[in-house]
Amino acid sequence: MGALFSLLLGSCSGIERSENEKMRRRNCKGEYIYRTQDEYTCAISPPAHTPRAAYPWERTTAKLTKDFFRCKGDSTHAPIDNPADSEQPITDCEGCYRHGLPVIHGQEGVYPILVELLNYVQEKTGKKVIITSGHRCPKHNTYSDPSKENLVSKHQIGAEADFYVQGLEQQPLDIVELLMAYYKETPLYQGDKAFATFHRYERGGARASVKPWFNKEIFIQLFQPEEARDGDNNHPYPYVSIQVRYDRDLKEKVVYQWKKAHLGYPRG
Ligand SMILES: [Zn+2]
Repeated sequence: MGALFSLLLGSCSGIERSENEKMRRRNCKGEYIYRTQDEYTCAISPPAHTPRAAYPWERTTAKLTKDFFRCKGDSTHAPIDNPADSEQPITDCEGCYRHGLPVIHGQEGVYPILVELLNYVQEKTGKKVIITSGHRCPKHNTYSDPSKENLVSKHQIGAEADFYVQGLEQQPLDIVELLMAYYKETPLYQGDKAFATFHRYERGGARASVKPWFNKEIFIQLFQPEEARDGDNNHPYPYVSIQVRYDRDLKEKVVYQWKKAHLGYPRG
C-alpha cells in the first residue's frame, strides 16, 4: 500500500513538472541581440604562441662537478676473460661508493682543467656532456681494458676524461674546436702561445685514425665509432678524450705514476 502511494505521489509531481515547463515556454519571449560589426564587449588580444615548458630531461644542463668523474666500476659487472691468465677472470671494482677520487693538490677530485673544459662545452653548446670515463681506479681500469698499453692510463690519476655531447654525437670535430677556443677566450691563458696554439701529434696513436691535437696543457684524441671501444666506451658514437699533460698550478708535467694510481685515492 505504502509503495503504491509513493508511486502515485511520484507520478503526480512528474505531471506537475511538465505542466510547469509547458507554462514557462508559453510565457517566455525571445528577443534579438543587436551588435554592430567589430563590436566587442571586451578586447581580444591577438593569439601569441606559448612555448611549452621543457621536460625534465630537456632542461638546461646542470653544472658538472668532480662527482661526474667518479669511477664507473661496479661489483655487479660480470667477470671478463683474462688474456694473461685464463684461470683468473678479471673482476670489476666495488664501485665509486667504496672508493674515492684521486687526491690532487690536497683535494679529492680530477684535474680542475677537465671540469672547466667540459663545463665550457656545456655552456657553449647548451647540451649535456656525457662523461663515459673519468677516474678509473686501477681495478676498473684493467676491467675496462686489460691491454698492456692501458696499464699506464692517466684515467687512474684523475688526468683523463672520455666524453661525447648529447645531441651532437656526430659532430666531434666541432667539440674539439670548442676545446681549443677555450684557451683563446679564457683570461687566465690569454697571451700565452704555449696554451693558445695547438699542434697535431704526427706520430699518431695506433688506436685513432684522426691525428691527436695538443698544447702545453692537454692532449686531445678523437675516436671513431669503431675505435678504442673499451668497457667504459661501449656506445655507438665517436668520442673525445682529453688527457692532462701539464699541471698549471704546480708548473710541472703530469705523468702516470704507479704510486699515484694505486695509493693516491681513499678506499673504504
Ligand atoms: Zn673503481
